[in-house]
Amino acid sequence: METEIPLAIEDEPPSITTTLQRTPRPSRKSLGSSAWDDWRWQFRNRLRSVDDLLRAFPNLPATAQVREAAEIFPLAITPYYASLIRELSPEDPVFRMAIPSVEELHNPGFLRDDPLEEDHDMPVPGLVHRYSDRALLLVTLACAMYCRHCTRKRVAGSRESTISDRNLSRAVAYLREHPEIHDVVISGGDPLTLSTKALERVISAVRSVPSVDIIRIGTRTPVTLPMRITPELVDMLRQYHPIWINTHFNHPNELTPAAIRACGMLVDAGIPLGNQSVLLRGVNDEPSVMEQLCRGLVRARVRPYYLFQCDLVRGVEHLRTPISRGIEIMEYLRGRLSGLAIPMYVVDAPGGGGKIPVLPTYIVSTSPTHTVLRNFEGMLVSYPEPEGYMPQQCRSGRGADGATVWDLAAGRQGRIVPQRMARHDRRDQREDITFTGLD
Ligand code: SF4
Repeated sequence: METEIPLAIEDEPPSITTTLQRTPRPSRKSLGSSAWDDWRWQFRNRLRSVDDLLRAFPNLPATAQVREAAEIFPLAITPYYASLIRELSPEDPVFRMAIPSVEELHNPGFLRDDPLEEDHDMPVPGLVHRYSDRALLLVTLACAMYCRHCTRKRVAGSRESTISDRNLSRAVAYLREHPEIHDVVISGGDPLTLSTKALERVISAVRSVPSVDIIRIGTRTPVTLPMRITPELVDMLRQYHPIWINTHFNHPNELTPAAIRACGMLVDAGIPLGNQSVLLRGVNDEPSVMEQLCRGLVRARVRPYYLFQCDLVRGVEHLRTPISRGIEIMEYLRGRLSGLAIPMYVVDAPGGGGKIPVLPTYIVSTSPTHTVLRNFEGMLVSYPEPEGYMPQQCRSGRGADGATVWDLAAGRQGRIVPQRMARHDRRDQREDITFTGLD
């Protein structure tokens, strides 16, 4: 196993308690402290237990229940992110995303440890091949913070291990054998918890595969550990373009000056930034909060990319909202915000069904001559269709995963019975992997 970062809490402060009590929210003064600005110090001094929490927040409520939940799902919060808590209550969005809750133990039967069935689509340990042209490479199980709503709660933080040389080589070999994969998402855990050198080892290995066009990195460090975005990191990343980064802001309170600065450094290095939010009850399920978040993101030069419906994962039932609430929020955003600031609302379908975009219904009726549409104000308009239009036949053929709904729409296929797809073959060929770690 290669563990990149020493994980013990430092003996010597600056004391977390003092820092947090003096600095309930980040201030220029606290961010000016050299230790506070050092991402390794922040990482080593994460609050990892209820006792750590109590040292930082002596008035923390319901500690016995917090302890109960923390025994099941790992706890870690950087001092920086803890300092964004404004109120010691689940009413506070940052508190809600960071502090364990006994509600995590309420698990109706339809929840799963791995609702997206990533483990089933894993041909080699750590590499998920779900869509024909994309792959997901999980390179670490460590995060700066363990979000209470995490989809990978089954593994994130269970063991803070990083991908071994052997498994990285196997993943790269698989990418070479599958030139249809053009886009690799490096994720985890959080890949930016690796040292810059260790991360470069992964990125350069992926970049060495000629058929890989785009490397994307999924990271929440601009939100939970913005000091991780250092000039050294940015200089390394810009050598491997095209690199894209998706981050994960969920609430406007996370858009601090430090976070905005971190995003700016990445964008200045030519790295396009997208944001993937999760719709969370009591955090961002108010349309006006989502509007504020999206406006703040574009101001910070981050494109709101996805708004995810919360996955059916064990431990997050109390954070889920009905899909109808998401549609209502999308209805509210359209017309108020420029299209650039509106994310795509998606349900990542249980059972490994992939991302399904969900929209309010804008087509009211359709005939061969006219389509009736409505706008966000409720205005109805008739759009006359062009006369005598015949579609050009697309000659590009079918995708690697066989016929899709697009083939039905184009009249090339009468029906689809999705009993057997390419991913099922991949599942059959994969080794019997139980994904518990990367070493
Ligand atoms: S940073 Fe991402 S992977 Fe880590 S706990 Fe949060 S949501 Fe999960």
